[in-house]
Amino acid sequence: MPVQQRKRRRQKNKIILKKSLLGEVLHQKRYIPLLIAIAILTLLGGFLFYRTSSLHQKMVPETEKNSLKKIPSDVRKVLQQQTHTASISATLHVPILMYHYVEYVQNTKDTERQLLNVDPNVFEEQIQTLLQAGYTFITAKELGDILDGKMPLPQNPIILTFDDGHWDLDTNVLPILKKYHIKVTAYIVPGFVGTNSDSLTPKELQDVVNSGLVDIGAHTVHHVLLKGKPLAYVQEEVDTSKTMLEQEYHIHVYSFAYPYGAFDAQTLSVVKQAGFTTAASTIAGNEQNQQNRYFLFRVRPGYMTGQALLHYLNISWNSYGYISGAKTIINNTE
Ligand SMILES: [Zn+2]
Repeated sequence: MPVQQRKRRRQKNKIILKKSLLGEVLHQKRYIPLLIAIAILTLLGGFLFYRTSSLHQKMVPETEKNSLKKIPSDVRKVLQQQTHTASISATLHVPILMYHYVEYVQNTKDTERQLLNVDPNVFEEQIQTLLQAGYTFITAKELGDILDGKMPLPQNPIILTFDDGHWDLDTNVLPILKKYHIKVTAYIVPGFVGTNSDSLTPKELQDVVNSGLVDIGAHTVHHVLLKGKPLAYVQEEVDTSKTMLEQEYHIHVYSFAYPYGAFDAQTLSVVKQAGFTTAASTIAGNEQNQQNRYFLFRVRPGYMTGQALLHYLNISWNSYGYISGAKTIINNTE
């Protein structure tokens, strides 16, 4: 091909490339940083979407590490203002035990599950210990009634709570509850029921409801963190978790638990407004009263049975500075 002809063809190709938008962009070197920026943003957006959607699908239970252990400072402020006007009723010694999994964990590599788990035979031993020691099993709903003066305080009350609505509640826990005829409270995540192999199926949850031994509480729709979130978002997660359970299972839901135990003054107010009469936190303690009815203290029984368990239920957590008699000395803050 003669040199002249080749030159002409190259010139022609250049014009065609210039005509297309991409060609135009590629042709001008000053657009290169823009293209790199678009590529980075696309990758970042994709990653964030993946993170958000995977967080919604995978439930991360309340471990010692990820859950709130102290009263938030804004809640403390509200409580201190209230003490000038509201009267404080007696502080009740009501240990509330927090359970997550009651199963024989098959996957030995799942250390998180093992840490949160209590083997079914140990769980039964704990029930036996508590019955022999004369404890009376009440529910979180009943504690609300007691605080409202609608129900007398029984001797040695204790509450057993089960978070997250795992399948083992129906398969492993319920048969033991039936055997000893004891009542408990379970905090269910309705958005997860029947959606994954870890959660209860609607049929299993119906079975739990039908037993009449389980006070069904709510634990948000998607097991999300509520602390510091926009008001509308908190209202949606709190209110809908209640109505979903009430409508689908024809029950009344009075009890609530904060995912990761995390709450602030806004969360507490939304939970109260929604019509819940108590809410459970992950702050350690065995004393409950009007002041902390929306962040009830709980303890983790772990594998303790017999004397060790009984001793644990009588530990004075006042050293953490919660409430002494009628005088508010809340130092247990963030
Ligand atoms: Zn939870």
